[in-house]
Amino acid sequence: MNYILKNHDYTDDIVVTIMMFYPNEKYAQITEPEGRTVLSAIENGGAFAAFYDGGECLARAQVNIDPENEKNVRFGLRTAVFKCLMQVHPIKAPWGTLTGVRPAKLVQMMYRDGLSDEEVYASLKNDYFVTDEKIRLAMKVAKSEQRIVENGIGKIGLYIGIPFCPTRCLYCSFTSYPLDKYANKVDLYLDALEREIKFTAELIKDKELESIYIGGGTPTSLNETQLERLLTLVSDSFKTPVEYTVEAGRPDTIDIDKLRIIKDHNVGRISINPQTLNDETLVAIGRRHTVEDFYKAFKLARQAGHDHINTDIILGLPGEDETHVTKTMDGLERLSPESITVHTLAVKRASRLKETLEQYELTDFDRMEKMLAVTSKRTAEMGLQPYYMYRQKNMVGNFENVGYCKPNCECIYNVQIMEEQQSIIALGAGGSTKTVEKAPDGDKIERIFNVKSVDDYINRIDEMIMRKKTGLENF
Ligand code: SF4
Repeated sequence: MNYILKNHDYTDDIVVTIMMFYPNEKYAQITEPEGRTVLSAIENGGAFAAFYDGGECLARAQVNIDPENEKNVRFGLRTAVFKCLMQVHPIKAPWGTLTGVRPAKLVQMMYRDGLSDEEVYASLKNDYFVTDEKIRLAMKVAKSEQRIVENGIGKIGLYIGIPFCPTRCLYCSFTSYPLDKYANKVDLYLDALEREIKFTAELIKDKELESIYIGGGTPTSLNETQLERLLTLVSDSFKTPVEYTVEAGRPDTIDIDKLRIIKDHNVGRISINPQTLNDETLVAIGRRHTVEDFYKAFKLARQAGHDHINTDIILGLPGEDETHVTKTMDGLERLSPESITVHTLAVKRASRLKETLEQYELTDFDRMEKMLAVTSKRTAEMGLQPYYMYRQKNMVGNFENVGYCKPNCECIYNVQIMEEQQSIIALGAGGSTKTVEKAPDGDKIERIFNVKSVDDYINRIDEMIMRKKTGLENF
């Protein structure tokens, strides 16, 4: 798929909108229509879009814009492309022209601007073409998030990444290294991380720490000695925050001793993620554990005293339909976790799935919609409510990921990372620190990145610390 930009260079806005209609293609910028081409232009004070095929113009659309307002210009350009492509290639677009990661944040902003429920509803429907069902979901999530966001203003969050896993899952695009090849790097990694943790503890000693989230990778890939070392270091360096989470994502990394170590360090929330409760799918996605392993791990976690357990699942895994999802929800219902995070499969650039896409038949829109209907209904029956959500590029069907929880079991960290009203300091390989400075004319968000590779992180830890020192100078 080709595209032409005229009188602007908002490439991302245009490509992301085209991707909604023509996913998983290569997108090339050209200067004259050639083959299938989308033209996006600012012309005569408006946003204009046209679609060409074989040299013939098949559709056009125009949207009024305020040329002095960049946000409005970008919004207009996206809307023009959306309206134009809807004429030649109509799709079901539950989120309309909303291409961003954080639909609930937009709703929060509308509420902060003083819009009423009716006005928020009307704007999402008429300006962004969002469906009624998704409007209700976004408003529900935004309202649930409000209290957490307000409580967290001025406080900070801390993320610590442990980038090791037993094997690499088919769909994974995280910084994650398989332990069979990287086991000998783990202690060196912890040495470097220790330095970054100690430096950061000193840097933020006067701040109020609201949450700590140890994620990855899979932190429980560490052996008991390494896990004890890490958690002792964290306890010695930071005051226990309101919320403390450790990802115990892969059931094949968990045993009773590790679960007790985690509990003994005052960790209040863990996540054990089956992704599906169908054994043949677990094999297909490269997770070296069974459904039974997940049940055992969950039971052990309860035995060790963990009373706040999240479980992640993914809809749209290869070969699955609503009957598989029903089976997964049956199993989860029996366990009654405090929260369930329902993801829809995304084909991420750095994943094995993307590399081997031709081997899989991905779920279509209608089937994904049916699977989402199952999880929405079953979570409600279990007394769980949606409390946070986000979207990603290349999600199958253009849907969303939603966290559901029992009353008062929201994950503060998840809400804060999505709403971007709080600074979150990230440590470890691939860590992306985000500082938020509140200002009347709009929040100022700055990012500080750590290198992604484990080897680079170990070898360049001085540089990572220096980046934090410089980036957080006036923090
Ligand atoms: S467990 Fe998570 S981080 Fe590890 S490979 Fe699978 S998706 Fe990636």
